[in-house]
Amino acid sequence: MATILDGRVVARSTLMSLRSRIDALPRAPGIAVVRVGEDPASKVYVGRKTARAERLGFKHEEVHLSDDTSQGELEAVIDRLNDADWVDGILLQLPLPPDLDSTALLDRIDPAKDVDGFHPENVGLLSQGRARFVPCTPAGVMRMFDEMDIPLEGKHAVVIGRSNIVGRPMAMLLEKANATVTLAHSRTKDLPALTRTADIVVAAVGRPHFVQGDWISAGTVVIDVGINRLDDGSLVGDVDTGSASENAEWITPVPGGVGPMTIAMLMANTVTAAELRTR
Ligand code: NAD
Repeated sequence: MATILDGRVVARSTLMSLRSRIDALPRAPGIAVVRVGEDPASKVYVGRKTARAERLGFKHEEVHLSDDTSQGELEAVIDRLNDADWVDGILLQLPLPPDLDSTALLDRIDPAKDVDGFHPENVGLLSQGRARFVPCTPAGVMRMFDEMDIPLEGKHAVVIGRSNIVGRPMAMLLEKANATVTLAHSRTKDLPALTRTADIVVAAVGRPHFVQGDWISAGTVVIDVGINRLDDGSLVGDVDTGSASENAEWITPVPGGVGPMTIAMLMANTVTAAELRTR
């Protein structure tokens, strides 16, 4: 039976380790979060991020815009935040309403303030192994491996999902940690056969209970990035946790697994941005 990899515990120790770095800064770190429209999940995520920033003593601002905001208006908001000296980190909460060009807006964020790590300059640095800001979710997963002393070198990691936010940077980080990585996606053939050969499975698909117990071999580390809301309002991951736990050695729960780590790493990236901008 798998041991639960508790993201809340690892997130707490990650946040505690930031204290001395925050105290060493000449001023409080500053983060600005931009939210467009009324997506209920985005509202919850942004609320959690600003609450955590508040508890750490960060200066923070939430810019909430209506869903008929134009590209030009949003560009002006980003320009203002790029120019504001107190702002170390800018986060544009995704998804944006479909009429907006999110790629162009993410490209407009000052790379020195891009605490989500989505700007092409930061993606390039990450791909060359000299990251400045690592996207928060895969960074949080790596932190969990580290805290739990889960070995990666020489292991076969199967990452399911190739988004710029999770899957692709996750694969880069695992490869840098000397795992042998397979990046699987919607066109991959016979995924269950592939995951059965894995020592580590990271599921970032966005489909409830997609990864079944019989896809997982004995001793596997299973990281469930998915957050899916069912019709009854409950939250579930991309892994069928009950059946997968029978064979897995470690497994992350949903909620309480990767989610808290994402917020902790956003705070860590904001502290890094403040350090770089105030030194
Ligand atoms: P996305 O929709 O951008 O990407 C999904 C990926 O899954 C795609 O690359 C696609 O190729 C792959 N995929 C789709 N169907 C597949 C199939 N049948 N077989 C194999 N691969 C398939 O999603 P995302 O932004 O990467 O998010 C993935 C999930 O992670 C979502 O549930 C999201 O809510 C969650 N998420 C959680 C956190 C967190 O903090 N825990 C952060 C970001 C995203």
